[in-house]
Amino acid sequence: MPPDTVLPQEASATKMEGAPTRFRLHARRDAAAAERRRLERDLATALQRGAFLLHYQPRVVLATGAAIAAEALLRWPHRKQGMIPPAMFIPLAERSGQIIAIGEWVLRAACQQAAGWPPSWSLSVNVSPRQLEGGALLGQVSTALETSGLAPERLELELTESLLVDVDTDTLLLLSAVRDLGVGLALDDFGTGYASLAVLKRLPLTVMKLDRSLVRDLPADREDAAIVRAVIATGHALGLTVVAEGIESEAQRAFLAGSGCDEGQGYLFSQPVPPERLGFV
Ligand code: C2E
Ligand code: MG
Ligand code: MG
Repeated sequence: MPPDTVLPQEASATKMEGAPTRFRLHARRDAAAAERRRLERDLATALQRGAFLLHYQPRVVLATGAAIAAEALLRWPHRKQGMIPPAMFIPLAERSGQIIAIGEWVLRAACQQAAGWPPSWSLSVNVSPRQLEGGALLGQVSTALETSGLAPERLELELTESLLVDVDTDTLLLLSAVRDLGVGLALDDFGTGYASLAVLKRLPLTVMKLDRSLVRDLPADREDAAIVRAVIATGHALGLTVVAEGIESEAQRAFLAGSGCDEGQGYLFSQPVPPERLGFV
């Protein structure tokens, strides 16, 4: 008898054991889908009711410690689940398309708030790849700037590095048009894996943000230290301002400042805070 032949009584035993497992898997998948649908409904209600909040994380010049900008970071206070972090709901909003309306709200609300900051401060707003589809972003940015009165040079959009895997001509034209308004363009999360040097050259970028995974083990990790120095040199050679994310220690700050990194963000300087804690209101 071949070794993989199953006897009748064994076959039925296998069936009996398999069924509950399959049942449990189906039940788990159904529960996850129901939870997703519930969250999608809650997201729609939150947007309608103006329940989202923006917190801001200051960005400092590493050489002087002067704060010169802040990044808007979305927060969702949920009635049952408390403060839901963006990593938990932005992927869902991207999947459902709700990120387009949410992103438009973020742009408008952040520009409105930043218009009240000292003129030397700039604002960074994260933009999801889905917001670049169809070209509506250009109109949204123009409207947010016009209604708030914020100077375009004080706004910067952050595009995540993963967006740049397949940047097409339409996206390139859209980003160039946004740049022509005077708005800055930052490549966020640099070092997480995707952007080729060719793409870096093609896009009309102004800023490169080093992902915190590159910063975490500085200055002790010699490979990371070498990579970071090389990336800073590349950014500068392309005419970009280089910003490091996730700076938590003085040793990291000193290494980055000594390596010529221009600006930084991180808990060493400040956590993301509600707008009133920026001290301008
Ligand atoms: P990001 O744009 O790279 O933002 C930086 C994230 O790192 C923020 O997490 C911030 O709180 C966190 N962070 C800052 N400094 C430190 C540090 O020193 N140590 C550590 N461990 N973390 C630090 P947050 O606020 O949870 O946001 C996560 C991501 O969600 C953002 O990453 C961004 O990709 C996305 N996101 C946030 N707001 C928006 C938004 O309005 N629109 C879109 N499309 N995405 C957003
Ligand atoms: Mg960002
Ligand atoms: Mg980032």
